[in-house]
Amino acid sequence: MSIARTLLLRASRSTWLEEQFRRRSFARRAVRRFMPGEDVTSALDAAAALAPARIGSVLTALGERVTTRDEADKVREHYDGVLDAIRARALPTHVSVKLTHLGLDVDRAFCTASVQQLADRAAATGTMLWIDIEESHYVDATLEIYRAVRARQARIGVCLQAYLRRTPKDLASILGVGGSVRLVKGAYAEPPEIAFPRKADTDAAYFALAQRMLEAATSNQPQVFGTHDLALLDRVRDRASALHLAKGAWEVHMLYGIQSAAQRSLAANGVSVRCLISYGTRWFPWYVRRLAERPANVWFVLRSMVSS
Ligand SMILES: Cc1cc2nc3c(=O)[nH]c(=O)nc-3n(C[C@H](O)[C@H](O)[C@H](O)COP(=O)(O)OP(=O)(O)OC[C@H]3O[C@@H](n4cnc5c(N)ncnc54)[C@H](O)[C@@H]3O)c2cc1C
Repeated sequence: MSIARTLLLRASRSTWLEEQFRRRSFARRAVRRFMPGEDVTSALDAAAALAPARIGSVLTALGERVTTRDEADKVREHYDGVLDAIRARALPTHVSVKLTHLGLDVDRAFCTASVQQLADRAAATGTMLWIDIEESHYVDATLEIYRAVRARQARIGVCLQAYLRRTPKDLASILGVGGSVRLVKGAYAEPPEIAFPRKADTDAAYFALAQRMLEAATSNQPQVFGTHDLALLDRVRDRASALHLAKGAWEVHMLYGIQSAAQRSLAANGVSVRCLISYGTRWFPWYVRRLAERPANVWFVLRSMVSS
C-alpha cells in the first residue's frame, strides 16, 4: 500500500481532523465532487436526474460506528423515511446501509432486528436493501446478520471485498444459499496477513471472484460489480456475454461523481448500471477514503483551498 494511501486512511479516523475539516468552506466545496448535497432531498433529486439515462441508483446516509441505541434507532427511522420517499417518487433506487451505523457496536440483536425491518420494508417498497462491508473485524458479524435476515427475506444483498484473503470462502457460502453479492476491491487499511497489500493481487482476486459470481448469476440472484476499473469491467462484460447472461442478472455499481461518462456510456450500451449516491453531514471518514483511493484527488482539495 502506498505511503499516501496509508496516511490518508489513518487520517480518516481522526476526530480532530474531522472537526477542523468540516468547519471549512473549501472542504465542503471539495466534497461536493462526490455527493450532490448533505440532505436526502439532494440525493433523491440526483437519483431522479439519472433515471432518464437509464442509470439506477443506490442511496446511503453517511455515518458509521454509532455508540448509542438512540442514535442507531434514529438512523433506522431515517431509512424508513427514505424508503417511503423512493416509493412516493417511483424512483429506480435501492438503499445501502452500514451495520455500525445501525448499532452493530451497541447491540447485535438490536442491529439484526433493524436490518430485518428495513429489508422487509425495502421488499414491500419493491426495492432492495444492500449491506456495506466495513473493516475486517466486522466481517464475521456482518455476514452472520446478513445470513439471519436473508433466511427470511431474499431482497437483501451484501458487499464483499476482493482484497481480503478470506473472501473466496465467504463468496462460496453466500452463492451457495442463492445470495446476491456486490463485489468491491476494499477501501480500508488492513494488515498484510488479512488483505493483499499489492493492488495487482487484489485486481487478480477480483476477476477470479467475479467469474464465480457470473456463473451463479440469474435474474433472481443478480450479482453486482462495484468498481470504476474500466479494463476489469471489460473482462467481466466479455465473460457475461460468453455465458449468455440475461439482462438484470448482473449489474455495475459506481460512486456518484466517479467515471460519470462511463456510467452513461455503459447504460446506453445496455449494461444495467447503478450510481451509489451518498449524503449526510458525517462525510469526513468516507470522503478521506475516496481521497485514499486516488491520492491525486488531494490536488482538488488543495485547489479548492487556494481558490477559497
Ligand atoms: C458501488 C460501490 C460500493 C462500495 N462499497 C464499499 C463497501 O461497502 N466497502 C468497502 O470497503 N469499499 C466499498 N467501495 C469502495 C471500493 O472498495 C474501492 O475502494 C473503490 O471502488 C476504488 O476501487 P476501484 O474498484 O474503483 O478500482 P481502482 O483500481 O482503485 O480504480 C480504477 C479507476 O477508477 C477511478 N477511481 C477510483 N477511485 C476513484 C476516486 N476515489 N476518485 C476518482 N477516481 C477514482 C480512477 O480512474 C482509477 O484509475 C465501494 C465502491 C463502489 C463503486
